[in-house]
Amino acid sequence: QDRSIETADLAVLADRTIAVLGAGNQGAAQAANLRDSGLTPLVGNRDDAYATAARERGFDVHPIAEAAAEADVALLLVPDEVQPELVRDEVAPGLRAGDTLVVASGYNWHFGLLEVPDGVDVVMVAPRMIGAAVRDRYVDRSGFPCFVSVERDATGRAWETTLALARAIGGTLGGAIVSSAREEAALDLFSEQAVWPAILDVVRTAHRVAVSAGFTEEAVLNELYLSAEPAEVFARVARDGLFGQLGLHSRTSQYGQLRSLAALEDDGELATRFARVMHEDILSGAFAREWSRPEAGERLDAMRRQADATPLAVAEAEVRARLGE
Ligand code: NDP
Repeated sequence: QDRSIETADLAVLADRTIAVLGAGNQGAAQAANLRDSGLTPLVGNRDDAYATAARERGFDVHPIAEAAAEADVALLLVPDEVQPELVRDEVAPGLRAGDTLVVASGYNWHFGLLEVPDGVDVVMVAPRMIGAAVRDRYVDRSGFPCFVSVERDATGRAWETTLALARAIGGTLGGAIVSSAREEAALDLFSEQAVWPAILDVVRTAHRVAVSAGFTEEAVLNELYLSAEPAEVFARVARDGLFGQLGLHSRTSQYGQLRSLAALEDDGELATRFARVMHEDILSGAFAREWSRPEAGERLDAMRRQADATPLAVAEAEVRARLGE
């Protein structure tokens, strides 16, 4: 299938009532973009500060159940962890055959946590961008990557609806990417559960080794991340390429990085660990089942407290205090 989509036709949305359910990060941005694309979205939100802000920006705001009932196309833009219950209690009762439910992340749908009535199309329009930038990059037309998929095509028109929505929120300006809820969810979880823990472990281990070698906390933590140099390097990785950006470092640095990388390449331990996370934790559904258990939230809170008490976190707080932050 085409991976860059130029053909999306907004006319397919012209006579359909669109509701943005949840006026938070994504919801506020997507509602504004839909409106600037010539559509008239309703907003569904609890009656609080987000609802007031949406009203002040001129949107017609309703309780979520009411907006879902009015909608032909409902964009589910509340946090993933509240979606299963909210869909069951407030959204699904308002959906009718022929309607479209739009998710912005694949997790709940792929892992079977959303009960959506028969006859309702289920599609994914998932910006790979924070909400504020979804708005800014629509306004300046620079665009953002956007994963799109049709998960259930009950009407036979789900694909054209998906493309039109992606275009209306600005998701085709940067080239929409045909994906699936499975792929989007699995890759997100893989980054979170394989890539980032490895990076956190690298920083934690580097801190321990460098401090044991007698160097000061200030120097070590600034070298590792407090200076924000890694953020600069990652920005250039996105712009110039993983290896393309090496030219921005000194030749000593380039030689040292590539020499040490070559020495790591024979070691299959990381690939084995990553494959185990991908297959045994993520694709098997084991992680999703564990995270759905009621006690998982408490476990997260306990792990956050433990992380805040590690030697690195304590040293970081002391260094920040000394630096007067
Ligand atoms: P937010 O945390 O910004 O969503 C908050 C919205 O959800 C608010 O409107 C809030 O309303 C409402 N809400 C929160 N809890 C409840 C509840 N229990 N009942 C009813 N409404 C509730 O979410 P995001 O915009 O970050 O995420 C929305 C979707 O977009 C998710 O599927 C996410 O995975 C996806 N996404 C997010 C990205 C991001 O960068 N943030 C990027 C791409 C996709 P209230 O005012 O009542 O609190």
